[in-house]
Amino acid sequence: MCQVEEDYQHALGRADLPSASKKCVKCKEASAAVVIRAGDRYCRSCFQEFFIHKFRAVLGKTRVIFPGEKVLLAVSGGPSSCSMLRQVQEGLSHTAHKKLRFSPGLVYIDEGGAVGQSAEERRRTVAELQVVFRATGFPFHVVPLEQVLDLPASVVVPGASPSERPASAYKAAVDRFIQSDSSTRRTAPEETTAPDVQESHTHTLQRLIGSVKTLTARDDLLATLRQHLLVHTARSEGYSKLMLGDNCTRLAVKLLSSISLGRGAQLAQDTGFSDSRYGDVTSVRPMRDYSAKEIAFYNHMFSVPSVVTPGLDTKTCDKDSIQRLTEIFVTKLQADFPSTVSTIYRTSEKLQTAARSSSAAHLSDRCLLCMCSLDSAAEKVSAFQATLISEQLSQTKSPAAPLNPGPRSAAPSGPSCCAAGAEDCGRAAGGGSCCSSAKEPQTGDLRSLLCYGCQLTVRDMSSVEHLPQYILSEAQRRQRRSQMREEITEFLLDDGDDGDEGD
Ligand SMILES: [Zn+2]
Ligand SMILES: [Zn+2]
Repeated sequence: MCQVEEDYQHALGRADLPSASKKCVKCKEASAAVVIRAGDRYCRSCFQEFFIHKFRAVLGKTRVIFPGEKVLLAVSGGPSSCSMLRQVQEGLSHTAHKKLRFSPGLVYIDEGGAVGQSAEERRRTVAELQVVFRATGFPFHVVPLEQVLDLPASVVVPGASPSERPASAYKAAVDRFIQSDSSTRRTAPEETTAPDVQESHTHTLQRLIGSVKTLTARDDLLATLRQHLLVHTARSEGYSKLMLGDNCTRLAVKLLSSISLGRGAQLAQDTGFSDSRYGDVTSVRPMRDYSAKEIAFYNHMFSVPSVVTPGLDTKTCDKDSIQRLTEIFVTKLQADFPSTVSTIYRTSEKLQTAARSSSAAHLSDRCLLCMCSLDSAAEKVSAFQATLISEQLSQTKSPAAPLNPGPRSAAPSGPSCCAAGAEDCGRAAGGGSCCSSAKEPQTGDLRSLLCYGCQLTVRDMSSVEHLPQYILSEAQRRQRRSQMREEITEFLLDDGDDGDEGD
């Protein structure tokens, strides 16, 4: 017994010692400066080459970004997105071996209002980032999250996606770009500085975030709002691609937490390289092959600046939200088992959406919040239906409990005449709409427009009234449409699968 242990210790000690002084696996000359995974030792210059190559390789291989295309980089100030920014800079520089050919712009969403930063703190963070952005020479946009309150309802309507381009189109675009490249030198970069945020807007935003009872749902809602604002900025500034800085460590956490949040059906889109659910603006994740550790090494060695910004979970416990708990779980596991992240991440690569293609899905089949194809239209015998039935049963047990939590239950003149059961409001009998449903959407009503994951988030809100106006008005519009379709359904020849226009 004792001897066995001794043998092990001896072997371990012997194996560990010489590895520290090993040479770079690439050039086999210089001594290694970083060890990414066991066995992958690189010297400084080989590591740089490897890192840069990976970025260009993924863009070259996927051919999603066309030459000359306008690409909006979402930079949060964190290490991953700042490293992505550096890769784009490197790729566009004249000395680059394989030059990138798109034209980048930067966007920073200032979430200070949602996480409770003071105006002074927010100004300081923005100023710090502006220094980084200005140094790049790219056009940039600083957008306070409060602007989400003024978004048009069109944000939650998918744009017309460009028709499938044949493989030859990419080559043609490259040739066109090379010809025109010399003539179009970049002009002075435009910059959009943050417009002054009205205090009342910040309060409204805080009320919205505060109306969500759990940190899990709050995190989820914030991510949705941020995505809407990013897509809107891209659309209004004429960008057709949105580049996100998610690294594989982050995506591994996202994969596991998404499953816990009931977003399994959208995993392929949520964690894949490209995501075209918005139609005209496609999100890409070129950093998904890098681990957080790799990025940290690179940023440190090649002095990539990053700016610390607080998040919703900055001053919270590990167990306060599912997202945070998953993150702690994955990082702790990763510390002892270094292939944890890559194993989870490789799984995500195998995922595909089995349902109909997302771009072809009908508008009314899209979730109002996250824009994924609705997964709640599952067959009769499914776990989802079972959940719904047991939920309904538990609600019928206690008739006093209102379907819509929060202040709505105290609505004047009785909650809803039709729901009361015995009598209807008169209009429904005449084929008209019921008076209660013609008004503002309520939590219960909103559900039919949401995917399962978003339903859970909205259920944790005290009242949907706090949701930004663009979401509410789009909800009303969709409800009116489906109501109208229901009314005329018996006169339709088909089951309404081509009725996408009519208002
Ligand atoms: Zn080397
Ligand atoms: Zn959703």
